[in-house]
Amino acid sequence: MSFLFEFRKFFSKKNTLNFDKVSNVHPTNRGIPVPTKNWEKECGACNICETNCPTQTIQKKGNDLLDFDYGKCLQCGICVNICPDGKLRNSGFLYTFTLHREDFYISYQNGKLLPIPRQNRSLTENQIRFRTLSKKRGFLYREVAAGGNNTVESELNASFNSVFDSESEGIRCVASPKHADAIVYSGPISANMEAPLQTTWDVMSEPKALIACGTEAVSGGLFPLGKRPKEPDLFISGDPPRPDVILQAFRLLLGRFSFQFQEALQKFLESET
Ligand code: SF4
Ligand code: SF4
Repeated sequence: MSFLFEFRKFFSKKNTLNFDKVSNVHPTNRGIPVPTKNWEKECGACNICETNCPTQTIQKKGNDLLDFDYGKCLQCGICVNICPDGKLRNSGFLYTFTLHREDFYISYQNGKLLPIPRQNRSLTENQIRFRTLSKKRGFLYREVAAGGNNTVESELNASFNSVFDSESEGIRCVASPKHADAIVYSGPISANMEAPLQTTWDVMSEPKALIACGTEAVSGGLFPLGKRPKEPDLFISGDPPRPDVILQAFRLLLGRFSFQFQEALQKFLESET
């Protein structure tokens, strides 16, 4: 019987996600807030979304300009629910990750995205060295929960299940930082976790990468951001990010996935108009 079972399984359809086909938008998820499609008039004196956002993601400048820092956004939906004119919507856009923190700054004028001119966004020396080492074989990481609420850890755990299958990308979690190529940390780095995070970083050999996983790790979220060993090599926003988002971000760091947050968001918004 067990032989027949194994035989049938061999020919059955795989359930593992195909990362080359998966979408960056999921209609049943909130994703980041964006202006509604039929934005008609200026916001005037209203600044309700700005004052009610728990992480100061939104800054209103003038009557028609809204600045977002998506590295701070929890994707909680409060701004969407509270806008009296229905000018914001949950987009379902989930790929909030980047190799450069500045990419998360987005401005909208009268509901239209203002592209920020791309400044020197080439890879850092450390990102290049890490990619050269890991592109083919993947990487091992040590996870550090630096004052978070364990939601990121739940999603990281899920990234190893048979649907997301992190190990098929050669990406594994290890117990000792001495065996690790990267640190994935979550949380805003509370005062008590600054030294352990620094020590974990110091004992790792070069080349190595620091990965900020979750909105709190990127910007502090609801809390002040603590001291990091260095500027992260990869920023993954979302509270928490889904396993497929985390793995796609890892693939970006490895150079297996071509993605730029601002361009992808612009393309997504244009596709909807
Ligand atoms: S954190 Fe919440 S309220 Fe603030 S911009 Fe994001 S979704 Fe809106
Ligand atoms: S988007 Fe809505 S809540 Fe925000 S400033 Fe404009 S009208 Fe006010």
